[in-house]
Amino acid sequence: MHNPKVPTVDFKFRFAKARSSQERMMLDIYGALAQGKSIFINAPTGVGKTDASISACLTYAVEHDLDVFFLTPKNSQHRIAVEVLKGLRSKFSMGVKYIDVVGKRNMCVNPEINLLEGEAFYKSCEQLVKNRRCSFYENSRDMEKPDFALEEAGMSGHNKLFSESFDRGVCAYEISAKLAREANFVIADYAHMLNPFIMKAFLKKIEHSLKDSIIIWDEAHNISNIAASYMSTSLSTQAIQRASEELTAIRSGIDLGYLEYLLSGLADAKVKVDGPGEAFVEKKDIPGMLTTNTEEVCDQLEKAAMEYINNTEAKRSSLMHIARFLRALSSFDDSNAVIVSRYGKGIKLSISCLYPSEAIESMKQAYANVFMSGTLLPLKMHMEMLGFQDAHSASYPMPYPKENRICLLDKEVSTKYTSRTPDQFRSIADRIASVKDRVSGNVAVFFPSFGVLNSVRRHMQRQVRFIQREEMRSLQVEQMIKEFKESDDNLLFAVMGGSLSEGIDYANNIIKGIIIVGIPLERPNLELQAKVEYLNKKFGMKGNEYAYLIPGVMKAVQAAGRAIRGEEDRAFILFMDKRYSWSMYRSIISDFMKIEDDSDYISRISKFMERS
Ligand code: SF4
Repeated sequence: MHNPKVPTVDFKFRFAKARSSQERMMLDIYGALAQGKSIFINAPTGVGKTDASISACLTYAVEHDLDVFFLTPKNSQHRIAVEVLKGLRSKFSMGVKYIDVVGKRNMCVNPEINLLEGEAFYKSCEQLVKNRRCSFYENSRDMEKPDFALEEAGMSGHNKLFSESFDRGVCAYEISAKLAREANFVIADYAHMLNPFIMKAFLKKIEHSLKDSIIIWDEAHNISNIAASYMSTSLSTQAIQRASEELTAIRSGIDLGYLEYLLSGLADAKVKVDGPGEAFVEKKDIPGMLTTNTEEVCDQLEKAAMEYINNTEAKRSSLMHIARFLRALSSFDDSNAVIVSRYGKGIKLSISCLYPSEAIESMKQAYANVFMSGTLLPLKMHMEMLGFQDAHSASYPMPYPKENRICLLDKEVSTKYTSRTPDQFRSIADRIASVKDRVSGNVAVFFPSFGVLNSVRRHMQRQVRFIQREEMRSLQVEQMIKEFKESDDNLLFAVMGGSLSEGIDYANNIIKGIIIVGIPLERPNLELQAKVEYLNKKFGMKGNEYAYLIPGVMKAVQAAGRAIRGEEDRAFILFMDKRYSWSMYRSIISDFMKIEDDSDYISRISKFMERS
């Protein structure tokens, strides 16, 4: 969408010339901002959306005395925004002050507590500050204004600010907040604006207001799921047992036996022995004892948690988790589903947020929002889900030559639940091996779940050197991917919707082909059912599409997009599942790529590879 009403704008852009797609995008964003409107942008990899969005928003913000926030789901995605701002600052003398802010736990320089996890960390910090026992805090409190070196460190990224602060004996988080007060551009995490508790405290601390701010949401396709995850929690009998052990360790008189007893009573009453192992729980089913005197009980649990942490040097506390859960249980409404389930020998009570209304409402208070992603189609769905039906929208084509990619379909196999047999898995394994035999170079294979990945792997006759495993920690994943990127003729097996299929750049054409096995649809369960019903009511029978079909297909699209990251990159994408030929899936995916149905796809891939 090009906005013809926007006059020529002298955009602040860090390079000599913007690409034509960037120019269009800057005009589109500027045009929306000029009308005080938000904008939804679908821009595939290569359009240069970080540069274009920052330049357009900053140009408008400087002219109209507004602030800009650039928000990402992960800390690791801040770096590119820092680079753009660094470039702009060195090219123009536009008085822009920016700061890269991450959560307090990642900025804590106090070795006494900075390895603590979750609530235990926040409570410990609060106590240390209150009792004036954190020297780092005291030193930063006394500092009226961070000096030039700290200011420069803040603009080099949060890691630099952390080390500079540590060397100077000041709290990096407090310094970043002081710098943010002076800044007109803040790079931060989704949680800073999507978690309603954090948002209010954060904005107050940095003395900024939403109404005077433009918010850029990077990777915006996942906003409502991420916001919902902040508002969801659960309590298991295992956690209660761990918390009881913590109480024993500090010789506390608190007895949590009643919680286990109430949970098992709920499960006995609601979960049918021959059913799916889970059941909805209504407000009236919840025993009064679970929600009586909540504040008093939670205070006692938190005190005990702190005693446990201080006495045992533990890094986390289940007592803290139980306090959080009980608070949520005493205040949930009909935008949550409460579900009791049996797992192994345990019982779990979960509170799942079906739609994060509060977080979404707060977005509307901003001057305007720029929602952007490489997979923000259908735009109409995202606009409706976030309640911005009157926003502007724009979608840009893939900026690379079309002939650099072929998308093919193998409709002889499927990972549909009813088709999951050893024969089917063997057939998929043989087909992957046949494709790899024709390809000299790395091929990444993405599966809908670890279960399917492992089932296919068992039948592979060919060596698979790189395999993502469910229990891998992020450092192990990083190490594996580093080795994969350095290799040149291997298979990678990973899951869709994971850290190897989204938000990761396989640059320099290190992947020659991608095989998408199955559709990563969520396993039907009560939570999904509740979500579908809630969205059906809210958006007129679109629950199945919005909560189930589209999110599943989008994970496949994200994974399929990993191979082509630059103009010179060439790759084939093979979709292995007959359901990709069904119109309901095909119509969703056709916005992104045209899949050719060719039974002789092996020859097509061979020919395509020969031309490389
Ligand atoms: S005030 Fe800062 S340095 Fe001190 S404990 Fe809290 S986050 Fe850590």
